[in-house]
Amino acid sequence: MHGFQKIRLPDEGEAIKVVDGKLCVPDIPIIPFIEGDGIGSDVWRAARLVIDAAVKVAYDGERRIAWCEVFAGEKALNLYGELLPQDTLRAIEQFIVAIKGPLTTPPFGGHRSLNVTLRQELDLYACVRPIKWIEGVPSPVKHPERLDVVIFREATEDVYAGIEWEMGSDGARRVIQFLREEFGIILPEDAGIGIKPISERATKRLMRKAIKYALENGRRSITIVHKGNIMKFTEGAFAQWAYEVALDEFGEHVVTQRDVSRAPEQNITGKLIIKDVLADNMFQQVLTRPEDYDVIVLPNLNGDYLSDACAAQVGGIGIAPGANLGDYHALFEPTHGSAPKYAGKDIANPSSMILCGAMMLRYIGWGEAADLIYDALSFTIKSRKVTQDLARHIDGDVQVLTCSEFAAELVECIQSRRCSTGAA
Ligand code: NAP
Repeated sequence: MHGFQKIRLPDEGEAIKVVDGKLCVPDIPIIPFIEGDGIGSDVWRAARLVIDAAVKVAYDGERRIAWCEVFAGEKALNLYGELLPQDTLRAIEQFIVAIKGPLTTPPFGGHRSLNVTLRQELDLYACVRPIKWIEGVPSPVKHPERLDVVIFREATEDVYAGIEWEMGSDGARRVIQFLREEFGIILPEDAGIGIKPISERATKRLMRKAIKYALENGRRSITIVHKGNIMKFTEGAFAQWAYEVALDEFGEHVVTQRDVSRAPEQNITGKLIIKDVLADNMFQQVLTRPEDYDVIVLPNLNGDYLSDACAAQVGGIGIAPGANLGDYHALFEPTHGSAPKYAGKDIANPSSMILCGAMMLRYIGWGEAADLIYDALSFTIKSRKVTQDLARHIDGDVQVLTCSEFAAELVECIQSRRCSTGAA
């Protein structure tokens, strides 16, 4: 457990290990964190206080997290002269579970997304986002409580893989020429080119993970979302491979919606229903029939859009948590970005980052601490104590808190256990 260039390991703690296919978590696990750019330092500071308080209260001080700062983005650039040093990748590889704040990516040119690179380098192939309304959070829809979904988005492929050539570049010219000469496909000379790979292996491992999650957590259905009517050999194949995994590997636990429609009289009690919906329709469905959906499995790009759209229904990306999961490795990160206009102002909403912490605690088996965080957050919001982004959309009196005040309120709530007893 050494050999890092600039990472200072904590004085105590041990690495989480994988033993016989299961995570083995010591009482003081070393967990790397990346603070993140923009509002990252504000929301991370807030989340860390809340996570530590919850662990302390839940386990009477017998468990704690030995945090270990690792670097990416602006901080890494200052320290290492590069945005994503090998040190960081190796630390996350070694310690298995990590958490990060948002990282900035310039939209036109500039460096590639560090988030995408992290997912690809560490083979974190499933981007998982549970999306459920917390009472009191303002929402643009009449019944936000009807949406309770967990999104499993593929995270290493699709047009997101970053295989693209700029208009007029040597690469673009050669690809255009190749397509013309080999396939007779004529593309405009002034086109930028992107490639959309979707593989059987990546699709099947994502679906496998989603099915295991759904079965372990008593979920009712899995919906495969795709655009296979138009892109048959990428999106269409994604749906086909996902069905194959369900039927070939989990046959006794699942039933397809088509089979249910054909034979409605059959007993499907306890079985996981597998269905598919075209991506464009799905954006309508989550608004018009939210209660019909549960676990949702999608390719990378559609998953990106749908996660934010669903998050908006339950109060926006400031509140939705997320995780990037590999077979065992996990990197938790908020759904929102670095919101540069709020950087350093202590007014960002730390809820998404805090809920990432709760998700992480649940992942390592510390569910009691995770529950304390959920309870404290729900209680505080229900008590109409919120950050400015939520306050703007709530009618009537609210107490507007800064990012750090919101965290302090949660810590107090956890320490006094007010939230779990329901006392004001
Ligand atoms: P963004 O940072 O998520 O911010 C968009 C808007 O969402 C903000 O202007 C603000 O809305 C609201 N918002 C986001 N987080 C909030 C929070 N915690 N509290 C309160 N309001 C919040 O998205 P962006 O402006 O498109 O992207 C900025 C940078 O972040 C880009 O470089 C992008 O690449 C990066 N990014 C990183 C990640 C990641 O690290 N995983 C994810 C997404 C984007 P109002 O203006 O309405 O107040």
